[in-house]
Amino acid sequence: IAKRLENFKTTIFTQMSSLALKHGAINLGQGFPNFDGPAGLRQGGGHPAIREGKNQYARATASLLNAAIAARFQKDTGLTIDPETEVTVTSGCTEAIAATMLGLVNLGDEIIVFAPFYDSYQATLSMAGARVRSITLRPPDFAVPIAELRAAFSEKTRAILLNTPHNPTGKMLTMAELQEIAALCVEYDSLAFCDEVYDKLAFEAEHISLASLPGMFERTVTMNSLGKTFSLTGWKIGWAIAPATLTWGVRQAHAFLTFATSTPMQHAAAAALSTPDGYYEELRRDYAVKKEILVEGLRAAGFVVYPSSGTYFVVADHTPFGFDSDVAFCEYLIQEVGVVAIPTSVFYLDPEEGKSMVRFTFCKDEGTLREAEFLRDDLF
Ligand code: GLN
Repeated sequence: IAKRLENFKTTIFTQMSSLALKHGAINLGQGFPNFDGPAGLRQGGGHPAIREGKNQYARATASLLNAAIAARFQKDTGLTIDPETEVTVTSGCTEAIAATMLGLVNLGDEIIVFAPFYDSYQATLSMAGARVRSITLRPPDFAVPIAELRAAFSEKTRAILLNTPHNPTGKMLTMAELQEIAALCVEYDSLAFCDEVYDKLAFEAEHISLASLPGMFERTVTMNSLGKTFSLTGWKIGWAIAPATLTWGVRQAHAFLTFATSTPMQHAAAAALSTPDGYYEELRRDYAVKKEILVEGLRAAGFVVYPSSGTYFVVADHTPFGFDSDVAFCEYLIQEVGVVAIPTSVFYLDPEEGKSMVRFTFCKDEGTLREAEFLRDDLF
């Protein structure tokens, strides 16, 4: 294996889901719904496109999906973009992240990330040969430490990589935080890479795209996907929106990574994006109920649950149960209680920083979530 990947283990999500299967445990670890997205989308999905002969390489420009993405971005942010030159369709947001790093970051460039961070960030940054400057968001509120952030920016800062709503904490960047970040990007002429895949799972305030702040569109790559919004994580359709100059870099990386993303799935995705807006409201309502069930269950079991205002995750402090690490606690939880959670230490450069916390997901049916209440009897 190449040096740039030799220090990475099998992803924590793959590890924990395998253990869930092995122990027949309830999987509140990996973020994938145990229910499928809207039946209408599934019936009208990929297959008709295959039958109708939409089976050759998708064009990078002028596709139906590019137009649907631009229309949705316009609705969400008020920004009018050119689907031909400012949208890149990728195989999931994970590819958009990789293509952004590989297409826009040079060897040795500094990239600022907030820890805890999603696992693919560090691996793709390593593949791109970037230097990672990590700034830790701390419980209970995971607010951005502005002074530390200012100190991290310099002439060497190529970009800041953001995720809002934030996996694993559920933290959403506030307007004030976004304004500070925007001011620093402008001051140091840095780019912003924004992973917004949980934008439709915002429970307390509306999601704000950094690209919509004054002076930011021209320096921002906004990434998103269909998986979370439509409960179809296996479709693997994502995208990156950026001004034409930046899109060129992303597209070149995409062209040499995968060349093009599955054509019939792009047709299915375009149909999904034309779902009436009421769907998003319903999704949010359903998830708000699920979140309540999980959080109540965890609190009743004795966890300290940190506030989460977006995503389908919550982070909890497990230390009331007396384990000295998140990994040890998760092992106990699987083996003795039959529940899978994700240890958060994997989301930090220094694993010590995540030792006291574990992440639970509530993208499961209510029956599964209610079983979290049984945790109470098993943990004490
Ligand atoms: N995004 C999902 C999570 O955070 C996992 C995706 C994956 O397994 N790579 O749980």
